[in-house]
Amino acid sequence: MTAMTRMCWCSSNAVLILAREGEVTVPDTMPVAGVQRSAGLDGQVDLVLRNARIHTGDPARPAASALAVRDGIIVRVGTEHDVAVLVGPGTRVIDALGRRVIPGLNDSHLHVIRGGLNYVLELRWDGVPSLGEAMRMLAEQARRTPAGQWVRVVGGWTGEQFAERRLPTVAELNAVAPETPVFVLHLYQSALLNRAALAAVGYTKDTPDPPGGQIVRGHDGTPTGLLLAAPAAGLLYSTLARGPVLDPDEQVGSTRQFLRELNRFGLTSAIDAAGGFQSFPENYAAVTALAGDGLLTVRIAYHLFPQTAGQELADLERFTQMVKPGDGDGWLRVNGAGENLAWSPADFENFAEPRPELPAAAPAELEAAVRLLLDHGWGFRLHATYGETIKADLDVFTRVAADGGFPRGVRWFFDHAETVTEESLDRIGELGGALSVQNRMMFQGPAFVARYGPERAATAPPITKMLERGLLVAAGTDATRVASYNPWLSLEWLVRGRSIGGMPLGAAGNCLDRATALRMYTHNGARLSGEEDVKGVLKEGYYADMAVLSEDYFTCPEEDISHIESVLTMVGGKVVYATAEHEGVAADPPPITPAWSPVAHHGGFHATPKPSGYRQALGLAEVAEAGDEHRAWRASRADVPPRPGPPPPIDPCFAP
Ligand SMILES: [Zn+2]
Repeated sequence: MTAMTRMCWCSSNAVLILAREGEVTVPDTMPVAGVQRSAGLDGQVDLVLRNARIHTGDPARPAASALAVRDGIIVRVGTEHDVAVLVGPGTRVIDALGRRVIPGLNDSHLHVIRGGLNYVLELRWDGVPSLGEAMRMLAEQARRTPAGQWVRVVGGWTGEQFAERRLPTVAELNAVAPETPVFVLHLYQSALLNRAALAAVGYTKDTPDPPGGQIVRGHDGTPTGLLLAAPAAGLLYSTLARGPVLDPDEQVGSTRQFLRELNRFGLTSAIDAAGGFQSFPENYAAVTALAGDGLLTVRIAYHLFPQTAGQELADLERFTQMVKPGDGDGWLRVNGAGENLAWSPADFENFAEPRPELPAAAPAELEAAVRLLLDHGWGFRLHATYGETIKADLDVFTRVAADGGFPRGVRWFFDHAETVTEESLDRIGELGGALSVQNRMMFQGPAFVARYGPERAATAPPITKMLERGLLVAAGTDATRVASYNPWLSLEWLVRGRSIGGMPLGAAGNCLDRATALRMYTHNGARLSGEEDVKGVLKEGYYADMAVLSEDYFTCPEEDISHIESVLTMVGGKVVYATAEHEGVAADPPPITPAWSPVAHHGGFHATPKPSGYRQALGLAEVAEAGDEHRAWRASRADVPPRPGPPPPIDPCFAP
């Protein structure tokens, strides 16, 4: 006896219609026409995603075409038939239209909490293809910005991404924003302030240079508006910190908008790296409020970072009295200390400057911090760019290991590790450590090449050497002040090894296959926060965190990876972002406040159409236009004679 079962899917809140030929009784526990019935779930799942090309990340079942979700958890992954039987009258059925579906991305090094507090105040040049376009945005935003507020461009871009291949000048900032303070941060290297911003922060010829920073001056000692990290970025950040901040309610709204912007790229988790000027608990109020109201749309595991040089141990002691790792829940939880444990051992990755020598006190201060943390059962992450720093840190850990044990069962990992040596990688393995790498070279690669040469850049960081040793390596961006938060830039860099302006950096042997890169961005990140049993793969019993992609990550041309976005992002079974054919499926975001916010007018990451050919054409057009403008400006200063008459026509046939 055979049962002919036909299924009919409707597009939303569907009822599964089972049309059977003849009188067939279907026992609940028997597979029928490929449909495995499962007692207790029939007709009771909340959501089904079907007609999808699912990359599960689960080696036991790498591919699937449908999955079902109940109470935010995946309850089945399989074929259409496997999942169809679970659909009931209350089930939302989403047709992925054959698109690629991946586990939600997890940025293992993102300053997401700090970034959220300021997001709506920032004009993002991330992804903007030309300086001409960037300056038009800035001019518009300066006109819209009310008195007392600033226009700030803080990271996510470099001059290399522009068709013009250069930074703006202070004169250009003054021309488009004569009254409004403008602060433009470029990587870890420099900041540009227009005249109004210099006045707002009060830098004059009497202001001394702080240690590690330079206020560039004209012949009479007056600051020009250029600030340099020499080599540390402290001056850049302390200047930025003089700008107005949002009030607490606006910080909550700003954080919510930032998380939604991350959802736009399929990000569903992040491990926060704290950062300078990010104090606990006060600067965590916004994210805690959102968690309390059930409004987080990115799961966050966070680290705590002592802020005041000389008082690090007191800060760490205070943290251990207030919270402990694992506190919180699947949305917001404590994951340990870092990425700084003390100020002195922190190196700065300004590749435009020589590698900084760490102060003599650094090892002892790190050792005291690590001993305190281990005594309290705290794990940590540790910022370290250079091989020399990592070797010195490992010497500290080895001393602690010989005398009391290390790591005593806690999770610990290095961040960045651009020039870590193979010997140190072996030692990291022996000491039970892991690594978190980011696409900082995509932004800083040209400066690195200029100082250290292409050969060293080819393995910075040596990712395949890490993976060959079986080390746990997770991926991320280190956004928002140097790299962009867009995870697809980082995934493209892992696969392709090129800078944002297309400079080949990575050796072929240091570039990864796409599945490995994605695993580093999903399950490996979950392992760094001890959540590998609940997230990072699409599998029964795991969080329903996933993204339906605009483009198939596994088959698109490599140079198009950075153009991928999500068309539907789900976190805990809830659709938090939806566009294209799914527009309207997610609830509308609240309006952006303040109303003059650059994000309200320019959005976040600036998407450009693929393929890259379009970007080039646009860039050339911009350069041509800028050329005329530049000539006119020089003519106004009598540097060059004005071009006589109207500009020459392209083709004499069209001349008047
Ligand atoms: Zn760092």
